[in-house]
Amino acid sequence: MKVTEHIKNAKGKSLFSFEIVPPQKGQNIQKLYDNIDPLMEFKPPFIDVTTSREEHVYIKKEGGLLERKVTRMRPGTVGICASLMHKYKVDTVPHVLCGGFTKEETEYVLVDCHYLGIDNVMALRGDARKDEAYFMPSSEGNKYASELVTQINNLNKGIYLHDIIEATYKADFCIGVAGYPEKHMESPSLQADLRRLKEKVDAGAEYVVTQMFFDNQKYFEFVEAARAMGIEVPIIPGIKPVAVKRHLSVLPQVFSLDLPDALVSEIEKCKDNKGVRQVGIEWAIQQSKELVEAGVPVVHYYSMGKSDNIKAIAREVF
Ligand code: FAD
Repeated sequence: MKVTEHIKNAKGKSLFSFEIVPPQKGQNIQKLYDNIDPLMEFKPPFIDVTTSREEHVYIKKEGGLLERKVTRMRPGTVGICASLMHKYKVDTVPHVLCGGFTKEETEYVLVDCHYLGIDNVMALRGDARKDEAYFMPSSEGNKYASELVTQINNLNKGIYLHDIIEATYKADFCIGVAGYPEKHMESPSLQADLRRLKEKVDAGAEYVVTQMFFDNQKYFEFVEAARAMGIEVPIIPGIKPVAVKRHLSVLPQVFSLDLPDALVSEIEKCKDNKGVRQVGIEWAIQQSKELVEAGVPVVHYYSMGKSDNIKAIAREVF
């Protein structure tokens, strides 16, 4: 079922959902199930599965030389979506990226999703590769998420990349896109970024999931500004509980966002990361309760491998 249908069917009740990251190549999928199992009691209507960009790895050669290769360390997004649908009878949302994929490869991914009965896809540009200063699209790929949304929406109309294809059966993907309450790091202003978000919605996106934020006021103001710009689709807040002290510097640096002073000083008081994890849980509970009270359609959690903190939050909120 489409994410938008789940929201409609909930009749104003806030739903619980989360995102998982595929394991690294060579690891067992059971570890992923072990993390998902404890969260299923909160009845997520859908689970997002991220896609990772390719990266450089260094292979040791004879004589101590290192050979640089490009590989994707966490493949398997669509396969994991299919296995979760089968195992848990839940909808899954594969993330589809511009970066690292030609439009042709994207079409193959979408055809696979269509055959598997996946109803939703999250359309994202992706970040710059770790060894690149700026985002560089593949020469035959989509440059911006809005172009990717157009490609997916074209499939919904039965339009494939090559007009030799005779489409007798159309896809019907519900398309999600990313939104940034504190603006995307490359955007010159929040208003400029919102205009880009509007382009994604005009191209066919049916819902937005936000980047993480730690101050709900930023989300509420973002939704208000989006509505003023004519963006009418559901805007799902994304929540990440802080888990380690290093997050104090990593999160602002990687995601270009602010942490409220009250949260920073609570974390600074912690003697170890066990304490930080607990502060992160308590902060996310407060954030989630306020969001639910405000009637958000879904609270979507970024679970980075270990789900014990998400479970502790969900137990208090859902
Ligand atoms: P876009 O919407 O294309 O925007 C990127 C930048 O370009 C913005 O600054 C925007 O203002 C600007 N822009 C857009 N259109 C134009 C235009 N026509 N002309 C000029 N400028 C323009 N990354 C992953 O690698 N894998 C994932 O699975 C993943 N999942 C995510 C899930 C969520 C909910 C979120 C919020 C982010 C996720 N990301 C993921 C990160 C995301 O890929 C990055 O934030 C990326 O830098 C931007 O992606 P986007 O889809 O928002 O890009």
